[in-house]
Amino acid sequence: MSGSEDKQMPYDPSQKPEQLKENVAKIRERITQAARRARRDPSEITLIAVSKTHPAESIRSAYEAGVRDFGENRVQEWESKRPLLSDLGNANWHLIGHLQSNKANRAATSFHTVDSVDEFGLAQRLDRALQTPGISVIGDTASKLRVLIEVRVAEEATKSGVNVADLPALVEQVTKLPALHLSGLMCIPPFLEDAEQVRPYFRRMRELRDQVATQIGVALPVLSMGMSHDFEVAIEEGATEVRVGTALFGQRPAPKITL
Ligand SMILES: *Cc1c(COP(=O)(O)O)cnc(C)c1O
Repeated sequence: MSGSEDKQMPYDPSQKPEQLKENVAKIRERITQAARRARRDPSEITLIAVSKTHPAESIRSAYEAGVRDFGENRVQEWESKRPLLSDLGNANWHLIGHLQSNKANRAATSFHTVDSVDEFGLAQRLDRALQTPGISVIGDTASKLRVLIEVRVAEEATKSGVNVADLPALVEQVTKLPALHLSGLMCIPPFLEDAEQVRPYFRRMRELRDQVATQIGVALPVLSMGMSHDFEVAIEEGATEVRVGTALFGQRPAPKITL
């Protein structure tokens, strides 16, 4: 078979620190430009480096390039990297992937924020875990665990996320949990080659946030939306956190298929 048929880019697990630094600078510049277009202050936008599948050394390089927020999508994978990075102060570790209830205890103690809460049972598990006497959390013990609610903004696109119709009730319930602090919403819209086509979903998220915040009477300042190929459009539509993986760390290895 000829090599040109192999479309998969080679995966480089140890991207050079200089390359990573350059990527961080480029993304930051694009964030600034997108914010300016929308007449927003670039400093209100947090870059979350999505480090799933990448080794601890890559996370360290990104940290050294000034990144302070990191997103992982599996509890177990993060637990394996965490001991290697315990010296990185002021970093915020975000869980951005679907969380199974049976891992809620571990997630509550190893992340600063769970950005993918999509059902009340899960929120309750996190809340209860944090009220266990003697529990050792990653952040400040006196502060609550930050959570975002993941919204299924396109019914067909993802399996995770709360349905739009059920969002107000879930917001109301989660805000009553004493150990959690609900800061806003997160979404994973459909992947569309042309990022402009994703714009209506981002806009819908912002409108939905405004509507629910007014209806329930809570502040929901955080909107986590936008990934490598569409984060600029997300910023133009109001994102306050963008989750960028590939554009920073390069291609991820293809997922393993277990038969
Ligand atoms: C992997 C992932 C990202 C980053 O995707 P890229 O396209 O690599 O930037 C963002 N958000 C979530 C929830 C992810 O799982």
